[in-house]
Amino acid sequence: MDKQTWTAVDAYFAQALMPADPVLDAALAASRDAALPAINVAPNQGKLLHLMARMMAARNILEIGTLAAYSTLWLARALPAGGRLVTLEADPAHAVVARANIARAGLESVIDLREGKALDILPGLTGPFDFVFIDADKTNNVHYFEWALKLSRPGAVIIVDNVVRDGKVLDPEAEEKVQGVRRLAERLTGDSRVSATALQTVGGKGWDGFILAVVN
Ligand code: SAM
Repeated sequence: MDKQTWTAVDAYFAQALMPADPVLDAALAASRDAALPAINVAPNQGKLLHLMARMMAARNILEIGTLAAYSTLWLARALPAGGRLVTLEADPAHAVVARANIARAGLESVIDLREGKALDILPGLTGPFDFVFIDADKTNNVHYFEWALKLSRPGAVIIVDNVVRDGKVLDPEAEEKVQGVRRLAERLTGDSRVSATALQTVGGKGWDGFILAVVN
């Protein structure tokens, strides 16, 4: 199947299963208007994160890499009353857009956006989290995964985004951000602390995928 068909199938199911959503659409528009990079999850993947968080009745969610809070909003909407989501963002310009999007969604009391480098903030967080979404600088994936494990309860789910990258993950000489994925895959090999798999995805944003792990 070619990319044009993947994109068309994505659009078909997005229209069928994800009706127009003024809050999420406005979040993406604000991100575009502020010239932020279009590296948010695709709508069907945002919905997938939302459904996974709901399936496991997550009450405490951690996200590493906020951008404009698009995935954050999908995840926060999965929370029951009293739930919380902590999201970490290093770029102040991204955080400004994210805060406005969170406020427009009426989720300021649910979402705790912390600004700064994730590795500086993570040691000060209090868990346990039920669900962790790792989607920041890929070079630090192993460190983020270790923190996710420290801060999670048994049975928690950890998702790491962008692990396929058009197949570049196979290349031992690939750029550093791909090496970050490869180091994580090697770290997880035989790691009895988690049970993990990788799921490849195709769609409007190309061929990519995520690692999905459950904490033992
Ligand atoms: N999860 C977002 C979504 O799908 O809507 C997309 C996140 S984007 C792929 C990655 C984000 O991580 C960027 O906003 C970037 O500024 C942020 N980031 C990069 N390095 C970081 C770090 N060391 N600590 C925290 N955030 C970081």
